[in-house]
Amino acid sequence: MKILVVEDERRVAEAVKRALESENFQVDWESDSAAALKAARRPDFYGLIILDRMLPGPYDGLEIVSILRENNISTPILLLTALGEVKDRVEGLQTGADDYLVKPFSIRELLARVKVLLKRPKVAMSSVIQVGTLKMDTQTQRVTRADKPVKLSNREYKLLHYLLYNQGEILSKERLIAHVWNENADIMTNTVEVYMAYLRKKIDRDFPGEKPLIETVFGFGYRIGG
Ligand code: CA
Repeated sequence: MKILVVEDERRVAEAVKRALESENFQVDWESDSAAALKAARRPDFYGLIILDRMLPGPYDGLEIVSILRENNISTPILLLTALGEVKDRVEGLQTGADDYLVKPFSIRELLARVKVLLKRPKVAMSSVIQVGTLKMDTQTQRVTRADKPVKLSNREYKLLHYLLYNQGEILSKERLIAHVWNENADIMTNTVEVYMAYLRKKIDRDFPGEKPLIETVFGFGYRIGG
């Protein structure tokens, strides 16, 4: 997997490059914004772009993000910046960056974010998230299993969406409550079990010919696509 690092501060760039290489990534480094844009536009070449916001040359980091997204380049982008205010963070994400790291950051934090971004299914280009024969179109909110429609309630849809978005990861009941029921603090963990049973029936048990997808990891939580 190749990662493009765009950073004009040599010291930071070298530390980032070393850390990524120690995790067996191949790293290209650009320090000028025009050269960075040219490199980043190569379709399907980089698995991830780590992009400093303030750069020498014609563009700043945010402009590079917009140009890439306008040209349907959906490579995940982690923005690096010295500006830590909420407004800048929102601006960065609205432009189409996938995550945002405020300088100074620790290398461990950077590596953790990189790993999360690389695991995330690509939803920018295609709105369909898929595990096995289960497909969810997040634009139309249609769910199918083996090409047959699955009817889900609002809550079941949200729950499945969160599982799919974090596919391969074990999600605790507490985490599911926080993300799927966040408007209601009084949810009990057995509510999660009840909804998980509904969901399981609709996407697994109703399709006996298909491989079951939702897994219970006893004592830890649930996982899809593990
Ligand atoms: Ca800079």
